[in-house]
Amino acid sequence: MTEMLLEVNALSVSYRLRGGVFRAVDGVSFRLGRGRTLGIVGESGSGKSSLARAILQLEPHEGSVSLLGEPLEGLHGEALRRARRHMQAVFQDPLASLNPRMTVRAILEEPLRVHERSLTAAERLQRARQALRRVGLDAELLFHYPHELSGGQCQRIAIARAVICNPALLVCDEAVSALDASVRGQVLALLEGLRREMNIGIIFIAHDMTAVRYLCDEVMVMEAGRVVEHAARDELFQSPRHPRTRALLDAVLEP
Ligand code: ADP
Ligand code: MG
Repeated sequence: MTEMLLEVNALSVSYRLRGGVFRAVDGVSFRLGRGRTLGIVGESGSGKSSLARAILQLEPHEGSVSLLGEPLEGLHGEALRRARRHMQAVFQDPLASLNPRMTVRAILEEPLRVHERSLTAAERLQRARQALRRVGLDAELLFHYPHELSGGQCQRIAIARAVICNPALLVCDEAVSALDASVRGQVLALLEGLRREMNIGIIFIAHDMTAVRYLCDEVMVMEAGRVVEHAARDELFQSPRHPRTRALLDAVLEP
């Protein structure tokens, strides 16, 4: 039996607008086992990013999220910091997510300074080198700044930073959406490799159904803040039940 990684129960996210309250995520529940990949798809505005931020405890919400059996709501300070070590995120814009004033070395060492305080400087540097190798980049890049790198290289560095402390969960919110098709394929293969080697569970938010089909064990389809279909990958691609799922699959076939 697969060990439970993530349990999300009746999760809702509401935004206060001038006219009242808008429910961007409306009662979402699901479970994810260790080392499993869940694709989340749905048209723009369906609540995918709000859901991701709520899971990461970056957005106020109702309902509950448990990671590795521990409820995250109500954690503060040191306890939340410790829990965060196990869940990391990669977002769409690689350059924007990296501090332009920091070298790649400093970017990669930052999570180690927060979560593994007992490491020596030499050990940190070695881990940074190792992380770069793991994402297929040359150690020479350690002394470069983000603006000197390509979009694909920046995204690999964002991934290296996310996995350097061996998280159990990686949330990828449109992490490959801004990349060229060829680079996207390489980064997807990298994510799949990390999942296998490190047993990382992945939440993969995307609108590219081909990428979802490649990477994900199961897929959740969102519409207006709700889950309208949640099925195993092959089942969903072979016999989609909900009209929204069919529309997303049809869009792939369009010229
Ligand atoms: P997706 O990632 O699927 O495109 P989002 O979670 O970003 O969806 O957004 C869902 C809905 O919530 C959208 O209608 C969006 O405009 C709205 N929304 C997102 N963030 C905020 C916010 N901070 N304040 C108000 N409305 C928001
Ligand atoms: Mg989004």
